[in-house]
Amino acid sequence: MSEVRLKACDSYDQPLVSRVVREVLSGMPALADGLKAGARVLLKPNMINARPAQTAICTHPTVVRAVAEVCCEAGCSVVIGDEPGYALVSDATQLFAGAGIAQACEDLDVEFALLKHGGYRSVPVPHPLRIPEVLIANTALDADLVINLPKCKTHQQTLLTGAIKNMFGAVAPRERIRIHMLGTFNAFGEAIADTFSACVPQVNLMDAVVGMEGKGPSRGEPKQIGAILASEDAVALDAVAQDMTGHGPDEVRVTTAAAEKGLGECRLDHIEIAGDNPADFRVALKRPPGGVRRGFPRLVGRLLEGMVWVRPQVDPELCIRCGACAGICPGEAIEIGGHAVINRDKCIECFCCQEVCPVDAIDTISSWLARKIIGGSPQGIGRTER
Ligand code: SF4
Ligand code: SF4
Repeated sequence: MSEVRLKACDSYDQPLVSRVVREVLSGMPALADGLKAGARVLLKPNMINARPAQTAICTHPTVVRAVAEVCCEAGCSVVIGDEPGYALVSDATQLFAGAGIAQACEDLDVEFALLKHGGYRSVPVPHPLRIPEVLIANTALDADLVINLPKCKTHQQTLLTGAIKNMFGAVAPRERIRIHMLGTFNAFGEAIADTFSACVPQVNLMDAVVGMEGKGPSRGEPKQIGAILASEDAVALDAVAQDMTGHGPDEVRVTTAAAEKGLGECRLDHIEIAGDNPADFRVALKRPPGGVRRGFPRLVGRLLEGMVWVRPQVDPELCIRCGACAGICPGEAIEIGGHAVINRDKCIECFCCQEVCPVDAIDTISSWLARKIIGGSPQGIGRTER
């Protein structure tokens, strides 16, 4: 039986967040073992880019600070690190200051790190579903304790992003691009479970105070959920979070694949909840429009490809020609001229470009039939076909 701890937290008031974080972490065996003077601890928040707290894109600064406080008090050597897929910042302080985390932690003895600066090494994947080995950040592999700090958000490619997907940030960026090329919803989810199995964090704490719905993980709208969850079992944590946010038990392939690999428990009746009742925080997050054909049998999906589609579209007025979208695009589908231009024949609809665009110049457009299928509001499904 896995345990997930859950406590109400209805705002990002620092004293409240700090109290709730201590409650959900209190007495957790992995922390009792790992939080020792001198221990190297990596805190791994979700840092898509240097985006401010109110966008709900990154793990909230107060949550990161609350966990860092606990580690610093134990005398640990604390690194707060991540590696955005395509960082538009040159150093870690710029990234974490842009998200407000550096300021929230300024009086704490912590170091900020871009994981690429510590290098990567190849790790064999246990019981691989899609990939036999993966390049993982040395900073994560060499830490005595990894505390994973995901944000509860919808995701255009995986439906929901939580604890398992958040560790994808420890994978070398070029490798992430290669994995995106696997294309389908199931293959991508299984590959993420593979990468997770090469670097499993000891503790996971999810910021679900304000989550994100719709076009996540970076273009959706903030959504109040009002809880903080923690578990040593990332799979159980994600299973509870996806149930709370209106997803069926088999809907998120990342979670079921990780459970199949023996990385944790996804059956809700095999998960013990400590603390508050998840039913009190239930909120049906608006679905991301990306991957609208994900539920279709493969042949049906292919047949309907021309009629059911959701694609990225650049707004030339907003584009600042920074090149981030072209730099991350797995399909090499973007050229930067007077503005970014997407070659539809090469686009695999992964929405990585949307994720990294610093000025939200890439929106989601959809076909008439896709909108009918998702049944979403214009906000949820993206703009109408032009
Ligand atoms: S254009 Fe955007 S959605 Fe299409 S393949 Fe490139 S990054 Fe992915
Ligand atoms: S679309 Fe966004 S990411 Fe791409 S070049 Fe323009 S501003 Fe940069």
